Amino acid sequence: MYIYEKAPAKINLMLDVLHKRNDGFHEVEMVMTMVDLADRLTLSDPGTGRISLSTQAGHIPHDDKNLAVRAARLLKQRCGVTRGAHIRLEKRIPVAAGLAGGSSDAAAALRGLNRLWELGLSTAELEELGAEIGSDVPFCVRGGTALATGRGEKLESLPNPPRCWVILAKPPINVSTADVYGNLRAAQIDVHPSASGMRDALERGAFKDVCGGLGNVLEDVTLKLYPQVGRLKEVMQRLGADGVLMSGSGPTVFGLAAKEEKAKRICNGLRGFCEEVYAVRTLE
Ligand code: ATP
Repeated sequence: MYIYEKAPAKINLMLDVLHKRNDGFHEVEMVMTMVDLADRLTLSDPGTGRISLSTQAGHIPHDDKNLAVRAARLLKQRCGVTRGAHIRLEKRIPVAAGLAGGSSDAAAALRGLNRLWELGLSTAELEELGAEIGSDVPFCVRGGTALATGRGEKLESLPNPPRCWVILAKPPINVSTADVYGNLRAAQIDVHPSASGMRDALERGAFKDVCGGLGNVLEDVTLKLYPQVGRLKEVMQRLGADGVLMSGSGPTVFGLAAKEEKAKRICNGLRGFCEEVYAVRTLE
């Protein structure tokens, strides 16, 4: 028996950092949504009781450090499962890009193994386990669109943004999320994007206000470390994207476009400037 799970990439429509907490995490407010660029997981029971992973992607860990394997081990241990799992991971989401690829793989492993091992855990229980793996994992378990607070694990589902095109452009650099947060001085942020403004825009289905409300306080940090990310933003703006923002800690920059024609124009315009470009859609 094979279980198939999609692990979609996420983008941040807004990301604010309120302060650094005593436990070392940052208190955040983020609105995240899924897009239709996804890794694929095929799960099966090898009959050996062991957890293993195979993938065509050479540049990610294949062992216990892989977040999908960590998720499988955690679920197996917590639920006292004796069966094993083989995870075949087809990687499509760029790695260390600000698109939560690893977190989404972990979430898909939790969802898929809950089915394969017939555990009957609820989404809320899977989200709680996911939070032990990483701050973005609970959102990836739930999917859709949500406001995430706390360190990212407290979720409130929101309406999906109006269907539109999302042009993702990833410069050829790998950004460490830990480095970006390490360089952030939360007390010195002067303009905070508004979570309530974004919630309101989504509830009204107002595409223009979604574009107007885009904001990410990590941008300043990443743009200082990697000026090419700022240049990429300018190019996307010049090409006429309805809204432009860096996702997560970067370096991926995304542009929103209501019309397919505009999305194509932006993709063509980016040729020669950025190698890795995807035109995808928000999920329904
Ligand atoms: P986020 O947006 O949550 O900060 P990201 O998109 O920046 O995430 P990932 O693609 O999740 O970053 O990868 C971050 C690190 O996690 C990489 O250095 C990679 O080696 C490691 N990693 C572990 N498991 C995976 C996985 N299944 N897929 C991708 N990266 C993984």
